[in-house]
Amino acid sequence: MAKKPVILGTLEEIIFETPRVSTFIVKLPAEADFSFISGQFAMLSLPDFLNDKGRPVRRAYSIASSPHDLVGKTVSFTITRKGEGGYFSNRIHEARVGDSVSVEGPYGSAFVLDRQDSRPHLFIAAGSGIAPLRSMIRTLLAEGSPPPIELLYGFRNEDDFIYARELKGYQSNRPRFSLLTAHSRPAEGWDGLAGRIPEVLPALYGSYKGQVVYICGHPEMVTQTVEWLRSVGFPEEAVRKEQW
Ligand SMILES: Cc1cc2nc3c(=O)[nH]c(=O)nc-3n(C[C@H](O)[C@H](O)[C@H](O)COP(=O)(O)OP(=O)(O)OC[C@H]3O[C@@H](n4cnc5c(N)ncnc54)[C@H](O)[C@@H]3O)c2cc1C
Repeated sequence: MAKKPVILGTLEEIIFETPRVSTFIVKLPAEADFSFISGQFAMLSLPDFLNDKGRPVRRAYSIASSPHDLVGKTVSFTITRKGEGGYFSNRIHEARVGDSVSVEGPYGSAFVLDRQDSRPHLFIAAGSGIAPLRSMIRTLLAEGSPPPIELLYGFRNEDDFIYARELKGYQSNRPRFSLLTAHSRPAEGWDGLAGRIPEVLPALYGSYKGQVVYICGHPEMVTQTVEWLRSVGFPEEAVRKEQW
């Protein structure tokens, strides 16, 4: 991939989404020339976090905000702290508001929102795989007449629900948006969908109803989800995926 310019931004806000996940809102300089399509990612680095060759450690992160949010010159990234061994993700969780963050991109052309596609949109995410889908959903909802949007989102239990307030808000206020959450380790009293995404799919999607599907999560979830959808007749062209 051809290298893109590196833009030095400033951490404007850090939102603690769950015990392991935060959203980092980066303010770009007023003169920065940055645009992207929902679904794309950027390479992030911290100017003072260098590898043994003296170069900044870089990692890929999906852009979690919408291009509409660029009005305020901000881009957001939602990052899971990997814990033991997670070199960059642990380090960025130690960053503070006001710290410098370098944003290089955007990259990626295969997993991008097609705004001309008027079919019902089905989004399927697990964990922080919600990040690029949140960008797509924000983009669709910011526009005049969005297509019907359904989000199936899997995580362990309510403590791990990233963007809970925003997504529940859409569920109550936006008639064309519907939300289904699946808990893989449900707490006592949870009476919604229980199980990992591939386990709940058969009860929900038994045949193709004309949707376009965007899936993002860890490789096993994505592979199994694609396999299920293809087995019940979802055409290959209607199923888009990203995994990490
Ligand atoms: C296109 C794309 C988009 C992405 N978007 C997001 C996003 O929106 N949000 C997000 O959270 N992540 C995203 N990622 C993943 C992200 O790029 C990083 O891979 C992730 O944050 C881990 O980086 P790290 O430096 O913390 O971990 P690394 O240090 O690179 O380690 C990666 C994994 O390997 C393990 N590991 C490291 N060293 C060792 C070792 N010596 N022995 C055994 N195991 C080891 C770690 O525990 C960890 O689980 C995306 C990736 C891609 C490719």
